[in-house]
Amino acid sequence: MNHPPIDLSIVVPAYNEEENLRPLYEAIRSALADVRRSYELILVDDGSRDGTWRVIRELSARDSRVRGAKLRGNCGETAAGEAGIRLARGRYVVTMDADLQNDPSDLPRLLETIESGRWDMVCGSRVHNRRDNLLRRVSSRVANRVRNLVSNEDIRDAGCTYRIFRRDRVDRIKFYRGMHRFLPTLFRIEGYRVCEVPVTHHPRHAGRSKYGVWNRVFAASADLLAVRWMKKRHVQYEIAEEASAA
Ligand code: UDP
Ligand code: MG
Repeated sequence: MNHPPIDLSIVVPAYNEEENLRPLYEAIRSALADVRRSYELILVDDGSRDGTWRVIRELSARDSRVRGAKLRGNCGETAAGEAGIRLARGRYVVTMDADLQNDPSDLPRLLETIESGRWDMVCGSRVHNRRDNLLRRVSSRVANRVRNLVSNEDIRDAGCTYRIFRRDRVDRIKFYRGMHRFLPTLFRIEGYRVCEVPVTHHPRHAGRSKYGVWNRVFAASADLLAVRWMKKRHVQYEIAEEASAA
């Protein structure tokens, strides 16, 4: 099927987020109302047990810019994100949470930064204005410090999944469970240019976080060693000369 080109695909993984999707849709619509760019909103239901899929169907019936996909069972944030990213038809892709922690009013600035052509990925950083509780802030700061040290990185807020990137760059990326936290590093491994810009961060609109402090720390630590290995062992070469009969 041939579709007219779309500027932006906004991909949102959603697991039990029925109360958040309508306000999220409205906020995205008004944030992009004055931006002269075409967009689609891809809502991926990651096997929710509440009315998430019902709301997604309702929104997609109402507005042709909204597309929905439902995964068979709960496969995790990275899987749901990847499913949406692979479906995306936009030149650029934004990933964001369903819960309005990420503010859609940051979208025009993210778009402007990636459209400068200087970057393949622009990541949101919540370092400047986190309103999470102290335990979350401290654990996140320690996690980022350790992550940067072990994987020789300088990402200040790797846990922020509010990002924009060029859709075509993703073709080379292989996704692994939990790797939504390491996507900037996976991009850099491929030689892509990644930067961070400050974004606004709010408390969750409704519903509960799908992670606790401890499962976050343990899962991320195991993944970190894998990422360190990938970074070290990634083959790098340049062909200096070629010779053939023809
Ligand atoms: N999510 C998902 N599948 C999961 C866990 C989370 O699709 O198994 C989605 C969730 O609905 C949300 C995003 O991933 O849109 C981030 O999750 P959450 O907001 O709970 O994480 P936090 O912001 O607390 O780190
Ligand atoms: Mg969240």
